[in-house]
Amino acid sequence: EQKAIATPKRTKEILDKYSFAFKKSLGQNFLIDVNVLENIVEKAGVDEESGVIEIGPGIGALTEQLAKKADKVLAFEIDQRLLPILNDTLEPYENIRIVHEDILKANVHEVIEEYFQEGQPIHVVANLPYYITTPILMNLLMDNLPITSINVMIQKEVADRMAAEPGSKSYGSLSIAVQYYTEASVVMDVPKTVFMPQPNVGSAILRLVMREEPPVQVDNEPFYFDLVRASFGQRRKTLMNNLSRHFKDRFSKDEIREGLEEASIEGGRRGESLSMAEFARLANTFYSML
Ligand code: SAM
Repeated sequence: EQKAIATPKRTKEILDKYSFAFKKSLGQNFLIDVNVLENIVEKAGVDEESGVIEIGPGIGALTEQLAKKADKVLAFEIDQRLLPILNDTLEPYENIRIVHEDILKANVHEVIEEYFQEGQPIHVVANLPYYITTPILMNLLMDNLPITSINVMIQKEVADRMAAEPGSKSYGSLSIAVQYYTEASVVMDVPKTVFMPQPNVGSAILRLVMREEPPVQVDNEPFYFDLVRASFGQRRKTLMNNLSRHFKDRFSKDEIREGLEEASIEGGRRGESLSMAEFARLANTFYSML
């Protein structure tokens, strides 16, 4: 049996064979540690029933480990140069399909319907290109896809922000956006040494489990997210300050004071101290005053 793709030796051989030069602009940092990969696959809960969507297979390091455990793997790769390489490295596996597309432009609904069984549990598992982490994840979350979980290697700092709880330093509008759709947790931190080439930033594995229902009742979602962003507008300023400034064309200072009081939220607090439930109460109150 051949060695795993993700060993440093085999990775170098593959790169040499195809004279492959990394494109920094495409966020190409390949994983060269089989243990880390097995860990990712296991923590994602992938089993023989699972359909898996991968974003950016590279030379197939993670794709191979996924194919060993999952029913089927579907991978989106933007870099044309990798297609013949993947064709070669993943040749032993029959349950993989590579789609040559930009994940930000792909019709993921359509591809899922075409390739997976109806009702099959689907997990997204990827070592993401870091330059577009947030747009990729927000697209997946807002697209109403029939997926169970998203398990991704991303910059540690972004993982911490997405999974942060109220009151913590990393808590902000990104935490609230992500946690509106999912239950978020940082599974583990990963050292730079498991990548080739090594990235400039620290990495972590983020796990997002899709919620069936939003955790809070929100009367108008765009208004809610707008109010949340406004509340974190200037982090050191109070809610009273940030909200008066943001809503100055819609509400007078007195109305802002009234709204805060009606929602039983102290105007002297800062956005970083509010839970999702408190933001929902505040947004619903102001929305009803429009
Ligand atoms: N999965 C491989 C691994 O772990 O070794 C490679 C991960 S590398 C961090 C990111 C991969 O995403 C690269 O293969 C890159 O070409 C690909 N990529 C970058 N932008 C993309 C996009 N918009 N759509 C699909 N793939 C993309």
